[in-house]
Formats: sequence, structure tokens, C-alpha cells
Amino acid sequence: MSDSSRVLRDGLEQFRSEHYPRLEDRFRRLAEEGQTPHTLFIGCSDSRVLPDLLADAGPGELFVLRNVGGLVPPRGSDPSVAAAVEYAVRILEVPDIVVCGHSRCGAVQALFDPPEVDTPELGRWLEHARPAAERARSRIPRARSDDPDDPSTAALDRELLREAERQSVKLQVERLQEHAPVREALAENRLRVHGWHYRIGRGEVDVLDAASGEFEPALEEVRGGEGV
Ligand SMILES: [Zn+2]
Repeated sequence: MSDSSRVLRDGLEQFRSEHYPRLEDRFRRLAEEGQTPHTLFIGCSDSRVLPDLLADAGPGELFVLRNVGGLVPPRGSDPSVAAAVEYAVRILEVPDIVVCGHSRCGAVQALFDPPEVDTPELGRWLEHARPAAERARSRIPRARSDDPDDPSTAALDRELLREAERQSVKLQVERLQEHAPVREALAENRLRVHGWHYRIGRGEVDVLDAASGEFEPALEEVRGGEGV
């Protein structure tokens, strides 16, 4: 058995011996009664983003849609995302949707520095986020220095990437509203859409303020600062 297979098997054993017994009643009830999640969580597939942990959610609480970049493509161009949104809003009737971007997002990075290996499908998919990169460029217009060792270049790159990550969240929030189920539910005041930017290394979430279009710390006691 390979090391990675052993890790997976050990994980299953841990689930059976530790986690399942602790949550058995809940799993049994959910199996019999079905799910009534309170939130559709749309996020990146990145292994460092843990939706249930971030939202302190247990079984049955989050309906999760993840893909590379946490993208909501323009309406009509991706039935998978549209189906998940439709199911969550029309059938499960979730009252909240979270669109969660994150720091050090490889998908956003790839918009500026495409991978050197052959990944044509990834390239096509990421084009759905291209407007976010363009918006970030227009807000942080200084050209990058040719010297990668210049500290100001690195700082500017980080600023550009963070802006693009946040612009991507805004873009996905906008595109969600192109979907009829979301538009209808918002008009009827039975749905809220939230934009989050999760800073992995700091364990902090900044939330999109719909009125200003800017991101603010989610929690009062957390007030900005450097780091990712
Ligand atoms: Zn990502």
C-alpha cells in the first residue's frame, strides 16, 4: 500500500472509531429526514480552505460547491454550477450563499503567471475569472519591475494578487445574480449573498460590504494587518 493510500485508510479508520460515534445520532437523523443546510458555500478546491471549519458547521449545515478558483461562470456556460445553485436555492431553499475566495489562490496566480506544464482545460476554465484580473490591474496600475528580487516588486505582486482574489469574489457574487433562482429569491427577500476573502495564514475572513464594494474584517476584534 502506498503512503498516500495508507493515509486515506488511516483517515477512514479514524472516522469510524472517533468521529462517527460522536456524530452518529446526527448522521442517522439526517439520513432519515434529509438535509436542510442553512448555506450554499461556493469556494475554491484549494486544500487549505476548510468550509466546515471556517463556518463551525457540522453535518447537514453547508451545501458546498467547490471548483478551481471558486468560480461562478457566466450564466449558460456551465451547467454544473448552475445546477448546484438551482438545487440549493429552489429545492433546499438555503437562506444564505457564501462566495469564499482566499489568499495565495493558485487559480488567481495562474491568471498572471500561467503554469509551465500543459494545462489547456485549466486555462480555459480560468478565463471565467479573467475580468477579475483585469479589474485588479486597473486598480493597481503600476507595472511590475523586471527585477523579481526587488522587494517592492514582491510587495506589489502580493497587492495585485490580493486585489485580484477580492475582485474575483465580487465577480462571482455579481454573476450569481444572473441566475434566475438567485435573482428571484433576492427580490423576495429570502436570500442573502455574502462575499468572503479568507486569509489562510492569519485565520481571518474579510467580508464584502455590498454598499461600498470594499472588504472589511468580519469580526470587530480583528483589524487588518499585514500577512496572508
Ligand atoms: Zn484557490
